Amino acid sequence: MANKTLKGRRIRLGMVGGGEGAYIGGIHRFAARLDNQFELVAGAFDVNAERGHAFAAQNFIAADRSYDDYQSLIAAESRREDGVDVVAICTPNFTHYPIARACLEAGIDVICEKPLTSTLADAEALAEVVGNTGRFLGVTYTYSGYPMIAEARQRVEAGLIGRVRTVQVEYPLEWMATGIEFNHNQQAAWRVDPKKNGRGGSVGDIGTHAYHLAGYVTGLKAESVVADLATFVEGRMLDDNAHVMIRYQGGARGLLWSSQVAIGCSNSLRLRVFGEKGSLMWFQEQPNELIYTPLEGNTRIIKRGRADLDALTAARSRTPPGHPEGYIEAFSNLYAGFAEALRARDEQREPAGAGRHIPQIYDGLKGVAFVDAVVDSHEQNTRWVTPKYR
Ligand code: NAD
Repeated sequence: MANKTLKGRRIRLGMVGGGEGAYIGGIHRFAARLDNQFELVAGAFDVNAERGHAFAAQNFIAADRSYDDYQSLIAAESRREDGVDVVAICTPNFTHYPIARACLEAGIDVICEKPLTSTLADAEALAEVVGNTGRFLGVTYTYSGYPMIAEARQRVEAGLIGRVRTVQVEYPLEWMATGIEFNHNQQAAWRVDPKKNGRGGSVGDIGTHAYHLAGYVTGLKAESVVADLATFVEGRMLDDNAHVMIRYQGGARGLLWSSQVAIGCSNSLRLRVFGEKGSLMWFQEQPNELIYTPLEGNTRIIKRGRADLDALTAARSRTPPGHPEGYIEAFSNLYAGFAEALRARDEQREPAGAGRHIPQIYDGLKGVAFVDAVVDSHEQNTRWVTPKYR
């Protein structure tokens, strides 16, 4: 059994997926390194074992800790005195559940990619496993790690813009504007397969990010959703464009647009929150700035790194103002929060700062419930549907 005391050492990280040619695993590796809290010591990096071993060797992972598959990784690592403490799951959606479950049941904590699972039944079962085992499961809703998102959240909570009336969140991308899945694009191929991706195409892949971000910043919980999904690329099996209206508890309204076919939009996630006394706007491609407009006042730009920012915003910034920070730093802020949550549990204390602002199992479950409600609404002639978890 691994020595689980984290005191005086880095947290030992294993990875499933994220091998040669994969996308998000590399971002996890950058993010895990930035604060020197984690060391990657083991992996089953690829669905093809040979390719996985070659990748491990290139990345200086000891040969005896590069595994053919996740089952062997879990079996061997949970027996080692210096076995992994946590496994990052960077594989397609349908594999998250069996991998996460096996890790948790073997006493290994989990950092899981979004969406948590490809079905709501799997997400519910996983939540039960987390509850039964008492282990940690963090979900990488990347955008909630940005400093200016922490600032927006704190300012909404402090009442700067008053009671929130409407939230407009959009996540348009262009990369699937043509049928790239028919041309062997690795990332697109599984994302258009309902069995591997889940029921929601754009809405599962990026709508879940937008939904989480809107809820994180405003603190609002959905009451019901109504959705109109479209598939513009011929032969594609899942939606590539989703328009969703949200009624929030308490009366606020929301509008969410996710699209994989929005030509000209590279990663154009945008959040706008309008309250009774003002508004806040944030654009992922200009992430160091938050735009604030008070009622009947002039628009101001609040910048990362400058004075008068919330403690969490400041803690999430690494460089002085004027030095752009972005995606990798935001991702590493989540890893910093995961590290704090794990160390706090180890030391039997409450997590401080960043460790209290990380997406966990219930956030993952809510995301999958949102996808389910959206697809139900669309399939039932755009009726209002209440997500099972909110
Ligand atoms: P990808 O296709 O680029 O990579 C998937 C990797 O998983 C590959 O290396 C593949 O060989 C490996 N793999 C598949 N099944 C495996 C198994 N059973 N055992 C070991 N390895 C296995 O996919 P991607 O774009 O990196 O997406 C992976 C996950 O990350 C998805 O859940 C996706 O939704 C999520 N994602 C999150 C973000 C974010 O911002 N947080 C961004 C992109 C992707």
